[in-house]
Amino acid sequence: MAGSFYKVACPDCENEQIVFGKAATEVACEVCGHTLARPTGGEAVLEGEVTETVEAR
Ligand SMILES: [Zn+2]
Repeated sequence: MAGSFYKVACPDCENEQIVFGKAATEVACEVCGHTLARPTGGEAVLEGEVTETVEAR
């Protein structure tokens, strides 16, 4: 398993953004700057609602 990408809806502005499930750096919403993913060393903690899972190849 190489990890997956997730489409996450921003809780503040409803922008949808693709986030890597094992993001090593904090990922912020491109529209409002709300943190969407926080790195934990393994699976990132996703702050928004996951609307779609995109399997990586
Ligand atoms: Zn946002």
